[in-house]
Amino acid sequence: MSAARKRVAVVGVGTMGSQAAWRLAARGAEVVGYDRFAPGHDRSAAGGETRVFRSAHFEDTRYVPLLRHADALWGQLQQETGRELRRLTGCLLMGSTEEQQMATVLESIAEHDLDHEVLDAETLAKRFPQYRLEDGDAVVLDRRAGFIRPELTVQSAARRAEQLGAVIHRYTTVREIVPVANGVEIRTDAGSERFDAAVVTPGPWVNDLLPGLPWEVEIRRLISAWFVPTTDAWFGEERPAFIRTSPTHCYGLPSPDGVSVKLGLSQALHKPAGDPNQLNRTVRPEELEIYSDLIGRHLPDLHPDPTRLSVYMEGYTKSSRPLVGPLPGTGNENMILLAGFSGHGFKLSPAYGDIAADLALNGSSPQPIDFISTADRAAA
Ligand SMILES: Cc1cc2nc3c(=O)[nH]c(=O)nc-3n(C[C@H](O)[C@H](O)[C@H](O)COP(=O)(O)OP(=O)(O)OC[C@H]3O[C@@H](n4cnc5c(N)ncnc54)[C@H](O)[C@@H]3O)c2cc1C
Repeated sequence: MSAARKRVAVVGVGTMGSQAAWRLAARGAEVVGYDRFAPGHDRSAAGGETRVFRSAHFEDTRYVPLLRHADALWGQLQQETGRELRRLTGCLLMGSTEEQQMATVLESIAEHDLDHEVLDAETLAKRFPQYRLEDGDAVVLDRRAGFIRPELTVQSAARRAEQLGAVIHRYTTVREIVPVANGVEIRTDAGSERFDAAVVTPGPWVNDLLPGLPWEVEIRRLISAWFVPTTDAWFGEERPAFIRTSPTHCYGLPSPDGVSVKLGLSQALHKPAGDPNQLNRTVRPEELEIYSDLIGRHLPDLHPDPTRLSVYMEGYTKSSRPLVGPLPGTGNENMILLAGFSGHGFKLSPAYGDIAADLALNGSSPQPIDFISTADRAAA
């Protein structure tokens, strides 16, 4: 069957599913998406107005080529939708070079010749007086970085897919995905439908939908907290995001409306979310202590009482590398899983969507995905 006529289901039209639907529809596939809510909702991994985009990677330099592919597709999606989904304001990366993560940042910059500036303490104090450094910190300004608008992105990608012919079933939960000869069957409360392939992107519901997955994907509860600045420093001419890799890994984004600064913490500081259908969205005062400490130590120009708090979920693998590829144990190469993005998937989402389309339509991808592929990946 030609790619143009292939019928592909997308299960979960969130961050990855909306991009996969766009890429599949752009290649002429007949796409049907399903979401338990509607594209752009805030009850899952996407929400809170901003996500960091950056070129330098502190997790693993092997993401850099995928980031380049994502970068080009961000431009394409913006052009096709006429919306500003991403703004390149730069991102300050700071932390001790004695720690692996900051060392990887410097390595990825050198290895891939990324557009950057190294700032000494004096320059930082002049240009960005809102930060306090630790002794031994290095500071790098990643210039091809900035923020993404998550809700607008999911809605725009889903809408673009619909313009290209995709059908999206909103408020429709997929109960089961059953491998059948040369394809898959999607079962919902409304009945079942047969497809040649399925791209399975259920985010935090991955263990509910696919019990018995051979890899552990732990669903964690993430808090985003917004703080109002006490000076004008945060909203000058330059408004980069920042990531501090040590001693407490955290990140922050000046909000696009110029009112507040959103702070978030890293993986090790998130607690398990429990049942994704029962997410506790109330933040207890003791959960805020770490933010007050960070503000007191590194960001003294922020008022320590948050003006807004939100809670999200994300799936984490043990290695922090996502699971991308055919679902094992089904005897069927037509179920393509994308899960476990471990807190760093958004910036790469157009590339992951494109890779999902490659795998669903052609069975392989020209992108360098060995290190994230489900193929040959030991169970853990
Ligand atoms: C607070 C926070 C901050 C983050 N910051 C960054 C950042 O700065 N930069 C970055 O790159 N990444 C960041 N990330 C990570 C990034 O947002 C995630 O990796 C990404 O959103 C995960 O996408 P997903 O498609 O797996 O999940 P989701 O976007 O949650 O999509 C899953 C979708 O599947 C649907 N669904 C689930 N089960 C079913 C079913 N059975 N039937 C039908 N539909 C179903 C859900 O409704 C949902 O729409 C952050 C994550 C969080 C939570």
